[in-house]
Amino acid sequence: MEKSKIEHYVWADKVADQLKEMKVKKHVIHGMWTPSGFFHIGNARPELMVPSLINSSLKNQGLISKQNFIIDDFDDFDKVPAGLDIKKEDFEEHLGKPLREVPSPVEGFESWAHYFQKDVLDCLDKFGIKANVISSYDSYKNGLFDEAIKIVLNKAEDIRKIWNDVTNAKKQKGWLPVMVVCENCGKSATTKVVSWDGKEVEYACNQNVDYTKGCKHKGKLKPEKGKAKLPWRLHWAAGWFIYGTSFESGGKDHFSSGGSVQTSQAFCKEIFKAQPPLQTPTEFLLVDNTKLSGSAGNVISLKDWLEFAEPELLRFMMASYKQNTVINFDLHSNKFFLLADRYEKAEQSYFEKEGKKEKRDLQLTEIYKYSQIKEIPEKIPVQLNYSIATMIAQTFPNKTLNELIQILHSHGWIHRKTLSSYDKERLTKRLELSKNWLEKYAPEDVKFTVQEEVPKDLKLNAEEKKALGLVVKALKQKRWTEKTLFEEFYDICEKTDIKNTDFFRAAYNVLLNKDRGPKLAPFILTLGKEKVIELFEKI
Ligand SMILES: [Zn+2]
Repeated sequence: MEKSKIEHYVWADKVADQLKEMKVKKHVIHGMWTPSGFFHIGNARPELMVPSLINSSLKNQGLISKQNFIIDDFDDFDKVPAGLDIKKEDFEEHLGKPLREVPSPVEGFESWAHYFQKDVLDCLDKFGIKANVISSYDSYKNGLFDEAIKIVLNKAEDIRKIWNDVTNAKKQKGWLPVMVVCENCGKSATTKVVSWDGKEVEYACNQNVDYTKGCKHKGKLKPEKGKAKLPWRLHWAAGWFIYGTSFESGGKDHFSSGGSVQTSQAFCKEIFKAQPPLQTPTEFLLVDNTKLSGSAGNVISLKDWLEFAEPELLRFMMASYKQNTVINFDLHSNKFFLLADRYEKAEQSYFEKEGKKEKRDLQLTEIYKYSQIKEIPEKIPVQLNYSIATMIAQTFPNKTLNELIQILHSHGWIHRKTLSSYDKERLTKRLELSKNWLEKYAPEDVKFTVQEEVPKDLKLNAEEKKALGLVVKALKQKRWTEKTLFEEFYDICEKTDIKNTDFFRAAYNVLLNKDRGPKLAPFILTLGKEKVIELFEKI
Protein backbone atom coordinates (compact mmCIF):
# COMPACT_ATOMS: atom_id res chain seq x y z
CA MET A 1 0.00 0.00 0.00
CA GLU A 2 1.15 3.49 -0.90
CA LYS A 3 0.01 4.89 2.45
CA SER A 4 2.34 2.88 4.60
CA LYS A 5 5.31 4.59 2.97
CA ILE A 6 4.23 7.98 4.23
CA GLU A 7 6.24 9.18 7.21
CA HIS A 8 4.20 10.17 10.22
CA TYR A 9 6.16 11.96 12.88
CA VAL A 10 3.19 12.03 15.23
CA TRP A 11 0.82 9.07 15.51
CA ALA A 12 -2.22 11.35 15.45
CA ASP A 13 -1.38 12.32 11.85
CA LYS A 14 -1.56 8.69 10.84
CA VAL A 15 -5.05 8.36 12.33
CA ALA A 16 -6.06 11.60 10.63
CA ASP A 17 -4.93 10.16 7.30
CA GLN A 18 -7.17 7.15 7.85
CA LEU A 19 -10.04 9.48 8.71
CA LYS A 20 -9.54 11.43 5.51
CA GLU A 21 -10.39 8.29 3.57
CA MET A 22 -13.86 8.26 5.13
CA LYS A 23 -14.74 11.25 2.94
CA VAL A 24 -17.04 12.89 5.48
CA LYS A 25 -17.71 16.62 5.27
CA LYS A 26 -17.35 17.33 8.93
CA HIS A 27 -15.43 15.21 11.40
CA VAL A 28 -16.82 14.66 14.86
CA ILE A 29 -14.31 13.29 17.35
CA HIS A 30 -15.71 11.73 20.51
CA GLY A 31 -14.58 10.92 23.98
CA MET A 32 -16.86 10.06 26.89
CA TRP A 33 -16.75 9.52 30.59
CA THR A 34 -19.14 8.51 33.35
CA PRO A 35 -18.95 10.96 36.29
CA SER A 36 -19.38 8.29 38.95
CA GLY A 37 -15.98 8.84 40.57
CA PHE A 38 -12.73 10.71 40.14
CA PHE A 39 -11.51 11.56 36.64
CA HIS A 40 -7.80 10.88 36.29
CA ILE A 41 -5.02 11.24 33.75
CA GLY A 42 -5.63 7.61 32.79
CA ASN A 43 -9.16 8.60 31.65
CA ALA A 44 -7.77 11.71 30.02
CA ARG A 45 -5.65 9.70 27.60
CA PRO A 46 -8.40 7.96 25.54
CA GLU A 47 -11.27 10.34 26.25
CA LEU A 48 -9.70 13.79 26.00
CA MET A 49 -6.10 13.77 24.83
CA VAL A 50 -6.25 11.28 21.97
CA PRO A 51 -9.38 13.02 20.59
CA SER A 52 -7.80 16.45 21.05
CA LEU A 53 -4.63 15.49 19.18
CA ILE A 54 -6.57 13.89 16.33
CA ASN A 55 -8.90 16.89 16.16
CA SER A 56 -5.84 19.17 15.90
CA SER A 57 -4.29 17.01 13.23
CA LEU A 58 -7.45 17.11 11.10
CA LYS A 59 -7.65 20.87 11.45
CA ASN A 60 -3.95 21.24 10.59
CA GLN A 61 -4.71 19.43 7.38
CA GLY A 62 -7.47 21.85 6.53
CA LEU A 63 -10.42 19.61 7.37
CA ILE A 64 -13.48 20.61 9.33
CA SER A 65 -13.51 18.87 12.67
CA LYS A 66 -14.92 19.25 16.15
CA GLN A 67 -14.40 17.45 19.43
CA ASN A 68 -17.26 16.38 21.70
CA PHE A 69 -16.76 15.29 25.26
CA ILE A 70 -19.79 13.30 26.37
CA ILE A 71 -20.52 13.24 30.07
CA ASP A 72 -22.48 10.04 30.63
CA ASP A 73 -24.40 11.38 33.58
CA PHE A 74 -27.52 9.31 32.81
CA ASP A 75 -25.57 6.18 33.80
CA ASP A 76 -26.51 4.40 36.99
CA PHE A 77 -24.87 5.02 40.29
CA ASP A 78 -23.49 1.54 40.93
CA LYS A 79 -20.84 1.94 43.59
CA VAL A 80 -19.95 4.31 46.39
CA PRO A 81 -16.29 5.10 45.67
CA ALA A 82 -13.56 5.15 48.28
CA GLY A 83 -11.69 8.28 49.24
CA LEU A 84 -14.72 10.41 50.06
CA ASP A 85 -15.53 11.98 53.39
CA ILE A 86 -19.09 10.64 53.49
CA LYS A 87 -21.14 8.03 55.30
CA LYS A 88 -21.53 5.20 52.83
CA GLU A 89 -24.97 4.31 54.23
CA ASP A 90 -26.31 7.77 53.35
CA PHE A 91 -25.78 7.04 49.68
CA GLU A 92 -26.69 3.38 49.44
CA GLU A 93 -30.39 4.18 48.96
CA HIS A 94 -29.48 5.97 45.72
CA LEU A 95 -27.68 3.02 44.11
CA GLY A 96 -29.34 2.21 40.79
CA LYS A 97 -30.49 5.78 40.08
CA PRO A 98 -29.08 7.96 37.29
CA LEU A 99 -25.99 9.86 38.48
CA ARG A 100 -27.76 13.16 37.94
CA GLU A 101 -30.48 12.13 40.40
CA VAL A 102 -28.03 11.26 43.17
CA PRO A 103 -27.16 14.02 45.67
CA SER A 104 -23.65 15.41 45.64
CA PRO A 105 -21.20 13.91 48.14
CA VAL A 106 -20.01 17.45 48.89
CA GLU A 107 -22.24 20.41 49.63
CA GLY A 108 -22.68 23.06 46.98
CA PHE A 109 -23.18 20.87 43.91
CA GLU A 110 -26.41 20.04 42.14
CA SER A 111 -25.79 16.30 41.92
CA TRP A 112 -23.26 13.49 42.23
CA ALA A 113 -22.37 13.96 38.55
CA HIS A 114 -21.92 17.73 38.90
CA TYR A 115 -19.50 17.29 41.76
CA PHE A 116 -17.23 14.84 39.94
CA GLN A 117 -17.27 16.59 36.58
CA LYS A 118 -16.39 20.02 37.91
CA ASP A 119 -12.61 19.63 38.10
CA VAL A 120 -12.40 18.02 34.66
CA LEU A 121 -14.43 20.72 32.99
CA ASP A 122 -12.46 23.46 34.75
CA CYS A 123 -9.27 21.95 33.36
CA LEU A 124 -10.20 21.50 29.68
CA ASP A 125 -9.11 24.97 28.68
CA LYS A 126 -5.93 24.79 30.72
CA PHE A 127 -4.86 21.70 28.78
CA GLY A 128 -5.71 23.24 25.42
CA ILE A 129 -8.75 21.04 24.88
CA LYS A 130 -11.45 22.77 22.88
CA ALA A 131 -14.34 20.37 23.27
CA ASN A 132 -18.11 20.75 23.33
CA VAL A 133 -19.27 19.27 26.58
CA ILE A 134 -22.47 17.27 26.17
CA SER A 135 -24.52 15.83 29.02
CA SER A 136 -26.21 12.53 28.14
CA TYR A 137 -28.86 13.15 30.80
CA ASP A 138 -29.79 16.47 29.21
CA SER A 139 -29.69 14.97 25.72
CA TYR A 140 -32.21 12.29 26.70
CA LYS A 141 -34.38 14.84 28.55
CA ASN A 142 -34.37 17.08 25.49
CA GLY A 143 -35.63 14.24 23.34
CA LEU A 144 -32.44 13.83 21.32
CA PHE A 145 -32.51 10.05 21.85
CA ASP A 146 -36.29 9.59 21.33
CA GLU A 147 -35.93 8.44 17.73
CA ALA A 148 -33.11 6.04 18.58
CA ILE A 149 -35.16 4.49 21.40
CA LYS A 150 -38.08 3.93 19.00
CA ILE A 151 -35.77 2.33 16.44
CA VAL A 152 -34.39 0.03 19.12
CA LEU A 153 -37.85 -1.03 20.31
CA ASN A 154 -39.04 -1.62 16.75
CA LYS A 155 -35.97 -3.64 15.83
CA ALA A 156 -35.60 -5.46 19.13
CA GLU A 157 -35.53 -8.86 17.46
CA ASP A 158 -32.70 -7.88 15.07
CA ILE A 159 -30.79 -6.45 18.01
CA ARG A 160 -31.25 -9.64 19.98
CA LYS A 161 -29.76 -11.67 17.13
CA ILE A 162 -26.74 -9.37 16.76
CA TRP A 163 -26.22 -9.28 20.51
CA ASN A 164 -26.35 -13.05 20.86
CA ASP A 165 -24.17 -13.55 17.77
CA VAL A 166 -21.42 -11.14 18.70
CA THR A 167 -21.29 -11.64 22.45
CA ASN A 168 -22.37 -15.27 22.76
CA ALA A 169 -25.15 -14.17 25.07
CA LYS A 170 -28.47 -15.99 25.27
CA LYS A 171 -31.02 -13.18 25.27
CA GLN A 172 -34.52 -14.66 25.00
CA LYS A 173 -37.14 -13.80 22.40
CA GLY A 174 -39.22 -10.80 23.38
CA TRP A 175 -36.31 -9.01 25.04
CA LEU A 176 -36.76 -5.22 24.80
CA PRO A 177 -33.38 -3.53 25.39
CA VAL A 178 -34.58 -0.24 26.87
CA MET A 179 -34.34 0.84 30.49
CA VAL A 180 -37.11 2.89 32.05
CA VAL A 181 -36.49 5.16 35.02
CA CYS A 182 -38.95 3.80 37.59
CA GLU A 183 -41.63 6.38 38.35
CA ASN A 184 -41.87 5.10 41.91
CA CYS A 185 -38.28 4.67 43.13
CA GLY A 186 -36.32 6.63 40.53
CA LYS A 187 -34.00 3.72 39.70
CA SER A 188 -33.21 2.65 36.16
CA ALA A 189 -30.94 -0.28 36.92
CA THR A 190 -33.84 -2.36 38.25
CA THR A 191 -36.50 -2.02 35.55
CA LYS A 192 -37.44 -4.38 32.76
CA VAL A 193 -39.55 -3.42 29.77
CA VAL A 194 -42.13 -6.13 29.10
CA SER A 195 -44.12 -4.75 26.18
CA TRP A 196 -44.09 -2.13 23.44
CA ASP A 197 -47.18 -1.23 21.44
CA GLY A 198 -45.51 1.32 19.19
CA LYS A 199 -46.43 4.18 21.55
CA GLU A 200 -45.90 3.12 25.11
CA VAL A 201 -43.90 0.57 27.02
CA GLU A 202 -45.00 -1.44 30.00
CA TYR A 203 -42.33 -2.04 32.59
CA ALA A 204 -41.80 -3.65 35.94
CA CYS A 205 -39.29 -2.55 38.56
CA ASN A 206 -38.51 -6.11 39.56
CA GLN A 207 -34.89 -6.71 38.63
CA ASN A 208 -32.37 -7.27 41.36
CA VAL A 209 -28.81 -6.32 40.51
CA ASP A 210 -25.86 -7.00 42.77
CA TYR A 211 -25.86 -3.48 44.22
CA THR A 212 -29.58 -2.78 44.57
CA LYS A 213 -33.13 -4.16 44.37
CA GLY A 214 -36.24 -3.16 42.42
CA CYS A 215 -39.31 -1.73 44.19
CA LYS A 216 -41.83 -4.02 42.41
CA HIS A 217 -43.67 -1.07 40.87
CA LYS A 218 -45.35 -1.64 37.50
CA GLY A 219 -46.10 1.12 35.02
CA LYS A 220 -46.71 2.22 31.49
CA LEU A 221 -45.24 5.28 29.76
CA LYS A 222 -44.02 6.85 26.55
CA PRO A 223 -40.30 6.04 26.41
CA GLU A 224 -39.21 9.56 25.59
CA LYS A 225 -37.83 12.79 27.04
CA GLY A 226 -35.53 11.06 29.48
CA LYS A 227 -38.11 8.63 30.89
CA ALA A 228 -36.14 5.78 29.36
CA LYS A 229 -32.62 5.17 28.16
CA LEU A 230 -30.61 2.64 26.19
CA PRO A 231 -28.25 0.07 27.66
CA TRP A 232 -24.59 0.93 27.21
CA ARG A 233 -23.74 -0.77 23.90
CA LEU A 234 -26.86 0.59 22.19
CA HIS A 235 -26.42 3.97 23.84
CA TRP A 236 -22.90 4.16 22.39
CA ALA A 237 -24.08 3.30 18.89
CA ALA A 238 -27.07 5.66 19.13
CA GLY A 239 -24.72 8.50 20.08
CA TRP A 240 -22.69 7.96 16.90
CA PHE A 241 -25.89 7.91 14.87
CA ILE A 242 -27.16 11.12 16.50
CA TYR A 243 -23.93 13.13 16.43
CA GLY A 244 -22.44 11.72 13.23
CA THR A 245 -19.31 10.61 15.04
CA SER A 246 -16.34 9.83 12.79
CA PHE A 247 -13.78 8.86 15.43
CA GLU A 248 -13.86 7.51 18.93
CA SER A 249 -11.14 5.79 20.91
CA GLY A 250 -11.58 4.09 24.22
CA GLY A 251 -9.57 1.97 26.61
CA LYS A 252 -8.26 -1.15 24.90
CA ASP A 253 -10.47 -3.38 27.09
CA HIS A 254 -13.51 -2.31 25.04
CA PHE A 255 -11.90 -3.71 21.91
CA SER A 256 -11.81 -7.38 22.82
CA SER A 257 -13.67 -9.90 20.68
CA GLY A 258 -17.37 -9.72 21.58
CA GLY A 259 -16.67 -6.51 23.45
CA SER A 260 -18.57 -3.27 23.31
CA VAL A 261 -16.74 -1.90 20.25
CA GLN A 262 -17.62 -4.87 18.09
CA THR A 263 -21.24 -4.93 19.25
CA SER A 264 -21.82 -1.20 19.02
CA GLN A 265 -20.25 -1.01 15.55
CA ALA A 266 -22.69 -3.70 14.38
CA PHE A 267 -25.65 -1.85 15.92
CA CYS A 268 -24.59 1.40 14.31
CA LYS A 269 -24.43 -0.16 10.85
CA GLU A 270 -27.31 -2.61 10.97
CA ILE A 271 -29.82 -1.04 13.32
CA PHE A 272 -29.26 2.70 12.91
CA LYS A 273 -28.05 2.39 9.29
CA ALA A 274 -25.25 4.86 9.97
CA GLN A 275 -21.56 4.77 9.17
CA PRO A 276 -19.79 3.79 12.40
CA PRO A 277 -16.77 5.81 13.52
CA LEU A 278 -13.20 4.76 13.04
CA GLN A 279 -12.10 3.32 16.37
CA THR A 280 -8.55 2.68 17.50
CA PRO A 281 -7.76 1.38 20.97
CA THR A 282 -5.77 3.39 23.48
CA GLU A 283 -3.41 1.58 25.81
CA PHE A 284 -3.40 2.22 29.53
CA LEU A 285 -1.52 4.91 31.30
CA LEU A 286 -0.06 3.40 34.43
CA VAL A 287 1.23 5.39 37.35
CA ASP A 288 3.84 3.58 39.43
CA ASN A 289 2.97 0.37 37.56
CA THR A 290 -0.65 0.57 38.63
CA LYS A 291 -3.85 1.25 36.74
CA LEU A 292 -5.61 4.26 38.19
CA SER A 293 -9.14 3.71 39.38
CA GLY A 294 -11.68 6.48 39.76
CA SER A 295 -13.52 4.49 42.38
CA ALA A 296 -10.46 3.51 44.39
CA GLY A 297 -9.34 7.07 44.95
CA ASN A 298 -5.66 6.47 44.00
CA VAL A 299 -5.87 9.01 41.22
CA ILE A 300 -3.85 11.81 39.72
CA SER A 301 -6.41 14.20 38.35
CA LEU A 302 -5.81 16.86 35.73
CA LYS A 303 -5.93 19.39 38.55
CA ASP A 304 -3.26 17.46 40.47
CA TRP A 305 -1.08 17.48 37.36
CA LEU A 306 -1.18 21.27 37.23
CA GLU A 307 0.32 21.40 40.71
CA PHE A 308 3.59 19.73 39.72
CA ALA A 309 3.97 20.13 35.97
CA GLU A 310 3.03 22.37 33.10
CA PRO A 311 -0.01 21.18 31.11
CA GLU A 312 2.17 21.13 27.97
CA LEU A 313 4.11 18.26 29.48
CA LEU A 314 1.03 16.06 29.65
CA ARG A 315 0.14 16.85 26.04
CA PHE A 316 3.76 16.16 25.12
CA MET A 317 3.67 12.77 26.80
CA MET A 318 0.40 11.87 25.05
CA ALA A 319 1.65 13.04 21.66
CA SER A 320 5.00 11.24 22.08
CA TYR A 321 3.74 7.80 22.97
CA LYS A 322 1.91 5.98 20.23
CA GLN A 323 -1.69 5.44 21.15
CA ASN A 324 -1.21 1.65 21.28
CA THR A 325 1.72 1.66 23.69
CA VAL A 326 1.46 1.53 27.46
CA ILE A 327 2.68 4.63 29.25
CA ASN A 328 4.19 3.77 32.57
CA PHE A 329 4.46 7.06 34.34
CA ASP A 330 6.36 7.38 37.54
CA LEU A 331 6.11 10.42 39.72
CA HIS A 332 8.60 9.33 42.33
CA SER A 333 11.66 8.60 40.26
CA ASN A 334 13.72 10.25 37.58
CA LYS A 335 11.31 9.05 34.85
CA PHE A 336 9.40 12.22 35.49
CA PHE A 337 12.56 14.34 35.13
CA LEU A 338 13.30 12.52 31.86
CA LEU A 339 9.93 13.57 30.49
CA ALA A 340 10.71 17.18 31.36
CA ASP A 341 14.19 16.81 29.80
CA ARG A 342 12.72 15.44 26.58
CA TYR A 343 10.29 18.32 26.39
CA GLU A 344 13.21 20.73 26.77
CA LYS A 345 15.04 18.97 23.96
CA ALA A 346 11.94 19.15 21.76
CA GLU A 347 11.67 22.86 22.41
CA GLN A 348 15.30 23.33 21.36
CA SER A 349 14.66 21.30 18.23
CA TYR A 350 11.68 23.43 17.34
CA PHE A 351 13.74 26.61 17.47
CA GLU A 352 16.70 25.18 15.55
CA LYS A 353 17.11 26.16 11.93
CA GLU A 354 15.23 23.89 9.52
CA GLY A 355 18.18 22.72 7.42
CA LYS A 356 20.12 21.31 10.34
CA LYS A 357 17.50 18.90 11.61
CA GLU A 358 17.93 15.16 11.74
CA LYS A 359 14.89 12.91 11.49
CA ARG A 360 14.59 12.59 15.27
CA ASP A 361 14.66 16.39 15.63
CA LEU A 362 11.97 16.79 13.01
CA GLN A 363 9.81 14.39 14.96
CA LEU A 364 10.45 16.19 18.25
CA THR A 365 9.58 19.47 16.53
CA GLU A 366 6.23 18.10 15.41
CA ILE A 367 5.43 16.63 18.82
CA TYR A 368 6.37 19.95 20.41
CA LYS A 369 3.87 21.76 18.21
CA TYR A 370 1.11 19.37 19.29
CA SER A 371 1.98 20.00 22.93
CA GLN A 372 1.44 23.74 22.78
CA ILE A 373 -1.50 25.45 24.39
CA LYS A 374 -0.50 29.09 24.01
CA GLU A 375 1.02 30.76 21.00
CA ILE A 376 4.68 29.82 20.54
CA PRO A 377 6.98 32.83 21.11
CA GLU A 378 9.32 34.15 18.38
CA LYS A 379 12.50 33.06 20.06
CA ILE A 380 13.21 30.20 22.39
CA PRO A 381 12.08 31.00 25.94
CA VAL A 382 14.46 30.53 28.81
CA GLN A 383 14.53 26.92 29.98
CA LEU A 384 15.10 25.83 33.54
CA ASN A 385 15.81 22.13 33.89
CA TYR A 386 13.35 20.47 36.28
CA SER A 387 15.95 18.72 38.42
CA ILE A 388 18.01 21.92 38.68
CA ALA A 389 14.80 23.68 39.71
CA THR A 390 14.31 21.21 42.57
CA MET A 391 17.88 21.80 43.73
CA ILE A 392 17.56 25.58 43.53
CA ALA A 393 14.19 25.57 45.25
CA GLN A 394 15.64 23.68 48.20
CA THR A 395 18.99 25.43 48.38
CA PHE A 396 17.55 28.94 48.37
CA PRO A 397 14.03 28.78 49.76
CA ASN A 398 14.08 32.50 50.60
CA LYS A 399 15.79 34.21 47.68
CA THR A 400 13.88 36.46 45.30
CA LEU A 401 13.38 35.57 41.65
CA ASN A 402 15.94 38.17 40.53
CA GLU A 403 18.55 36.76 42.90
CA LEU A 404 17.83 33.24 41.66
CA ILE A 405 18.13 34.39 38.05
CA GLN A 406 21.64 35.73 38.85
CA ILE A 407 22.64 32.41 40.40
CA LEU A 408 21.19 30.33 37.56
CA HIS A 409 22.90 32.47 34.98
CA SER A 410 26.28 32.44 36.71
CA HIS A 411 26.25 28.62 36.58
CA GLY A 412 25.19 28.54 32.98
CA TRP A 413 21.86 26.90 33.82
CA ILE A 414 19.90 29.54 32.00
CA HIS A 415 21.26 30.98 28.81
CA ARG A 416 20.14 34.61 29.10
CA LYS A 417 20.59 37.14 31.83
CA THR A 418 18.03 39.65 30.62
CA LEU A 419 14.70 37.95 30.71
CA SER A 420 11.39 38.87 29.15
CA SER A 421 8.30 38.91 31.33
CA TYR A 422 7.28 35.62 29.68
CA ASP A 423 10.64 34.08 30.64
CA LYS A 424 10.23 35.25 34.22
CA GLU A 425 6.73 33.88 34.34
CA ARG A 426 7.99 30.52 33.12
CA LEU A 427 10.85 30.39 35.63
CA THR A 428 8.60 31.34 38.51
CA LYS A 429 6.11 28.68 37.48
CA ARG A 430 8.78 25.99 37.15
CA LEU A 431 10.17 26.81 40.60
CA GLU A 432 6.69 26.73 42.12
CA LEU A 433 5.87 23.39 40.44
CA SER A 434 9.12 21.81 41.56
CA LYS A 435 8.45 22.93 45.14
CA ASN A 436 5.04 21.26 45.00
CA TRP A 437 6.57 18.11 43.55
CA LEU A 438 9.13 18.03 46.36
CA GLU A 439 6.42 18.40 48.93
CA LYS A 440 4.01 15.82 47.54
CA TYR A 441 5.84 13.25 45.47
CA ALA A 442 9.64 13.45 45.81
CA PRO A 443 11.41 10.47 47.38
CA GLU A 444 13.18 11.20 50.67
CA ASP A 445 16.66 11.02 49.18
CA VAL A 446 15.95 13.95 46.85
CA LYS A 447 14.77 16.24 49.63
CA PHE A 448 17.16 18.33 51.70
CA THR A 449 17.48 21.45 53.84
CA VAL A 450 20.68 23.44 53.97
CA GLN A 451 21.80 23.64 57.61
CA GLU A 452 22.37 26.92 59.41
CA GLU A 453 24.59 25.30 62.03
CA VAL A 454 26.63 22.11 62.12
CA PRO A 455 24.23 19.41 63.36
CA LYS A 456 24.78 19.03 67.11
CA ASP A 457 25.09 15.27 67.38
CA LEU A 458 27.33 14.93 64.33
CA LYS A 459 30.45 12.88 64.97
CA LEU A 460 33.33 13.05 62.50
CA ASN A 461 36.69 11.41 62.92
CA ALA A 462 40.00 13.27 62.66
CA GLU A 463 40.63 12.27 59.02
CA GLU A 464 37.18 13.40 57.94
CA LYS A 465 37.62 16.73 59.71
CA LYS A 466 40.98 17.13 58.05
CA ALA A 467 39.50 16.38 54.62
CA LEU A 468 36.77 18.98 55.02
CA GLY A 469 39.43 21.41 56.19
CA LEU A 470 41.29 20.80 52.94
CA VAL A 471 38.07 21.56 51.04
CA VAL A 472 37.94 24.94 52.81
CA LYS A 473 41.54 25.62 51.86
CA ALA A 474 40.88 24.67 48.24
CA LEU A 475 37.75 26.79 47.99
CA LYS A 476 39.61 29.83 49.31
CA GLN A 477 42.49 29.29 46.88
CA LYS A 478 40.86 29.76 43.47
CA ARG A 479 37.80 29.60 41.21
CA TRP A 480 36.60 26.08 40.57
CA THR A 481 34.50 24.48 37.89
CA GLU A 482 32.29 21.47 38.59
CA LYS A 483 34.85 19.22 36.93
CA THR A 484 38.00 20.56 38.62
CA LEU A 485 36.34 20.65 42.02
CA PHE A 486 35.13 17.10 41.61
CA GLU A 487 38.70 16.00 40.83
CA GLU A 488 39.99 17.92 43.81
CA PHE A 489 37.69 15.88 46.11
CA TYR A 490 39.42 12.71 44.98
CA ASP A 491 42.84 14.25 45.57
CA ILE A 492 41.80 15.24 49.07
CA CYS A 493 40.57 11.71 49.81
CA GLU A 494 43.90 10.33 48.73
CA LYS A 495 45.88 12.83 50.81
CA THR A 496 43.86 12.15 53.96
CA ASP A 497 43.58 8.44 53.27
CA ILE A 498 39.80 8.20 53.64
CA LYS A 499 37.28 6.44 51.48
CA ASN A 500 35.41 8.56 48.93
CA THR A 501 32.10 7.41 50.36
CA ASP A 502 33.11 8.51 53.86
CA PHE A 503 34.23 11.88 52.55
CA PHE A 504 30.94 12.56 50.76
CA ARG A 505 28.89 11.33 53.71
CA ALA A 506 30.79 13.68 56.04
CA ALA A 507 30.27 16.66 53.70
CA TYR A 508 26.53 15.99 53.26
CA ASN A 509 26.09 15.56 56.98
CA VAL A 510 27.58 18.95 57.73
CA LEU A 511 25.72 20.73 54.93
CA LEU A 512 22.39 18.89 54.95
CA ASN A 513 22.30 16.69 58.06
CA LYS A 514 21.85 13.69 55.71
CA ASP A 515 24.07 10.92 54.40
CA ARG A 516 23.35 11.77 50.80
CA GLY A 517 22.48 14.77 48.67
CA PRO A 518 22.70 16.30 45.20
CA LYS A 519 26.01 15.97 43.31
CA LEU A 520 28.48 17.60 45.64
CA ALA A 521 30.65 19.73 43.32
CA PRO A 522 27.83 21.55 41.50
CA PHE A 523 25.92 21.76 44.77
CA ILE A 524 28.80 23.50 46.57
CA LEU A 525 29.23 25.90 43.67
CA THR A 526 25.50 26.62 43.67
CA LEU A 527 25.28 27.11 47.39
CA GLY A 528 28.25 29.50 47.22
CA LYS A 529 31.65 28.76 48.71
CA GLU A 530 31.19 31.33 51.52
CA LYS A 531 28.34 29.34 53.02
CA VAL A 532 30.28 26.06 52.68
CA ILE A 533 33.43 27.54 54.20
CA GLU A 534 31.41 28.97 57.08
CA LEU A 535 29.91 25.56 57.95
CA PHE A 536 33.06 23.50 57.35
CA GLU A 537 35.14 25.86 59.52
CA LYS A 538 32.79 25.30 62.46
CA ILE A 539 33.56 21.61 62.81
ZN1 LIG B 1 -38.85 1.14 41.28
